Amino acid sequence: MDFELNDEQRQMKMSVREFAESEIAPHVMEWDEAQHFPIELKPKLAAIGLMGVLFPEEYGGAGLGYVEYATVIEELSRVDGSVGISVAAHTSLCSNHIYQFGTESQKQKYLAPLAAGDHLGAWGLTEPGSGSDASSTRTTAVRKDGGWVINGSKNFITHAIHADTCVAFASTDRTKLSKGITGFIFEKGTKGFSPSKKENKLGLRASETASVVFEDCFVSDENRLGEEGQGFVNAMEVLDGGRISIAALAVGIAQGAFESAVRYSGERQQFGKPIREFQAIQFKLADMATQIDAARLLMYRAASLKDQGERTTKASSMAKLFASEMGVRVCEEAIQIHGGYGYTKDYPAEKYWRDSKLCTIGEGTSEIQRMIIAREILKSS
Ligand SMILES: Cc1cc2nc3c(=O)[nH]c(=O)nc-3n(C[C@H](O)[C@H](O)[C@H](O)COP(=O)(O)OP(=O)(O)OC[C@H]3O[C@@H](n4cnc5c(N)ncnc54)[C@H](O)[C@@H]3O)c2cc1C
Repeated sequence: MDFELNDEQRQMKMSVREFAESEIAPHVMEWDEAQHFPIELKPKLAAIGLMGVLFPEEYGGAGLGYVEYATVIEELSRVDGSVGISVAAHTSLCSNHIYQFGTESQKQKYLAPLAAGDHLGAWGLTEPGSGSDASSTRTTAVRKDGGWVINGSKNFITHAIHADTCVAFASTDRTKLSKGITGFIFEKGTKGFSPSKKENKLGLRASETASVVFEDCFVSDENRLGEEGQGFVNAMEVLDGGRISIAALAVGIAQGAFESAVRYSGERQQFGKPIREFQAIQFKLADMATQIDAARLLMYRAASLKDQGERTTKASSMAKLFASEMGVRVCEEAIQIHGGYGYTKDYPAEKYWRDSKLCTIGEGTSEIQRMIIAREILKSS
């Protein structure tokens, strides 16, 4: 058992950190205030291989694994969770779904430009009436003229407006419930496929979250992703990987909040000394560091199992559940350490806290993670 990153992984971690601090940090609050989605960052992320970390070099990726991928998401999120979730939705949801379940020609046509960062990806499972109960999808796909006619909508989709490629799910046989759901690939500009309402969010405001609408949208059968009726099952497998990235998002956000609290505790003087000399503040810092470390270990365990080809449903959900709830707690303590200043936008603590909350909701809420973990435990008992 090895708890340390190897030299190459450590080097990669440091170079992503340097990139985030030079290219992202100066703009974080400006993007947050304006809810600006920084699409201009995409070529820079692509240039250093961060848009296709998980995919083989033959498809334009970096040929690395989940340990490296989680490290990348953590480091980006330490500076800005919005960039972290953006790379995560692009990579472990959209691109990875095509990598895992696409045909060779779909991989050449869609995965290669996604992994190279020439294209941006979105993945649409959630609907207005179908969130945690994702198998109750109401979007339909009906066979016609060698293809499919799709009607319905998806909401809360990361990159719904800017994505070049969107993987989305529709019911091809409602009588079969979750076994009647099929995945499809949509290209930007396809007739009848259009983005809709952009959300005005509490946190991760520089990530783009919007709806997409399908109105008699025709796609050929070549755009069907995976076997007919296997879309939901495949989506659940994709989420096993995606949840590792939400754990990484939470760990990165918490790490950023923690570092800002440590810094501030040395600067702020009360009762004639820096507040970090009070044991009450020291204990908070000790608890925060311990919780972040525990979450990071769960994250790396799930990532490492994934890299070994293991089924990670329980490990991914445990990492996601613990890290996301830890993230909210740690970010709240970071505000507390900043006192009144933590409640203002002069310090980063309030933003970290706002950003952290999504982690307990996206890719399955904490309640759903507990259901999955319990199911896995009871299945094998
Ligand atoms: C910023 C952001 C980005 C997102 N990006 C994407 C994306 O790219 N693609 C995508 O497909 N989706 C995305 N989502 C959607 C996200 O995955 C859903 O919001 C999430 O799965 C919860 O669904 P819901 O919002 O409909 O809540 P609901 O399912 O309505 O849940 C409401 C509450 O009820 C609880 N609940 C529901 N069912 C049960 C149950 N059986 N037992 C106990 N409690 C239950 C939930 O835990 C929650 O507390 C995103 C959401 C946000 C906010």
